[in-house]
Amino acid sequence: MIKDDQNQIASGPENRNARRSVSVRYGSREVIIGGNAPIVVQSMTNTDTADVIATAIQIKELARAGSEMVRITVNTPEAAAAVIAIREQLDKMDIDVPLVGDFHYNGHTLLNDYPECAQALSKYRINPGNVGQGAKRDAQFAQMIEIARKYDKPVRIGVNWGSLDQALLARIMDENAQRAQPWSAQAVMYEALVTSAIENAQRAEELGLGRDRIILSCKVSGVQDLIAVYRELAKRCDYPLHLGLTEAGMGSKGIVASTAALGVLLQEGIGDTIRISLTPEPGGDRTREVIVGQEILQTMGLRKFTPMVIACPGCGRTTSTVFQELADRIQSYLREQMPVWKNIYPGVEGMNVAVMGCIVNGPGESKHANIGISLPGTGESPAAPVFVDGQKTVTLRGEHIAEEFQAIVLDYVKSHYGKNNVSA
Ligand code: SF4
Repeated sequence: MIKDDQNQIASGPENRNARRSVSVRYGSREVIIGGNAPIVVQSMTNTDTADVIATAIQIKELARAGSEMVRITVNTPEAAAAVIAIREQLDKMDIDVPLVGDFHYNGHTLLNDYPECAQALSKYRINPGNVGQGAKRDAQFAQMIEIARKYDKPVRIGVNWGSLDQALLARIMDENAQRAQPWSAQAVMYEALVTSAIENAQRAEELGLGRDRIILSCKVSGVQDLIAVYRELAKRCDYPLHLGLTEAGMGSKGIVASTAALGVLLQEGIGDTIRISLTPEPGGDRTREVIVGQEILQTMGLRKFTPMVIACPGCGRTTSTVFQELADRIQSYLREQMPVWKNIYPGVEGMNVAVMGCIVNGPGESKHANIGISLPGTGESPAAPVFVDGQKTVTLRGEHIAEEFQAIVLDYVKSHYGKNNVSA
């Protein structure tokens, strides 16, 4: 029985390598999920897949932001037909990110009728709750697994509690009713989610799909539910796990809920690839979900993606917006440079830059960073000392502090992380 064991002691991320690994490929690009590979950040488009140009552009944006795989909905014949054209567009733009096809209801038909789509995708997501009913369900599931075998594609068995296999749920409820002490409705639901994932993975293996071609997920929208379900899932199988809080929500709520849930599980070594399911604001930037995923992993010390800016929150000592503007400017500048910098300045993603609002903590925090600046607070002398590797090197003054500090950051990157420089 699943218990929400609040007292479990975190066992640490090092336990991740107890899981199997799955290779996802496109051309010469290979993404490893599981084993002791770095945790993979992935994302999903929200364009109409049949709109080739809009979808290719969004995939490019997600990939440039650092998404290591991108999932697209394949829901209609038009969408399936578009997949090959999307792949071609991406090839023209030198974007080799692997594409994952998200299938529900008609995946067996689309994969069968559009073999070029089946070939162009690097991985399939199958929701066992949306494959069909009764005898059709088994046949349609088998058809999708057969196609995955034929094209040698890995599959994610992706269970979601919003579309849980109702026949399986009914079976587990019946079993529960026979118990002398029936489980709670919540425990029955958890059990149904985990059982659905594991039984369908076993079925896929019986149908001939390699054990090293299967990834599992069991997504729910509640933080405590997700923690309980994934702890159990991790205990009961060694397939690599795709981790994410489904329907996390909009804005800060979605970010906080995802971080709370994933933080606990990742710290326990659970989760081999993550997706942050944020609802964008109207007209909002889809790449936000990639950045949040990266920031969760980087702030936990699990991966490094982009130099981190340490900034104080500001207080009554910072009555102007100068320091907020500088922190924002430097953070945006660093992230914008990364698609180029990561190739020419290896190791730069581990750099720390401190932007501090006044003398109280400014010099101290700045000394701990690779580069730090302590701006003048209200009433302080209008001077901004800059610290490089713990040493005060210069004091900036006047109206061009931001430009001058950015130039110092760039000089530091060039001198410390260039390919001929080993100090990085
Ligand atoms: S460093 Fe200065 S401005 Fe920033 S929060 Fe601390 S006291 Fe306030």
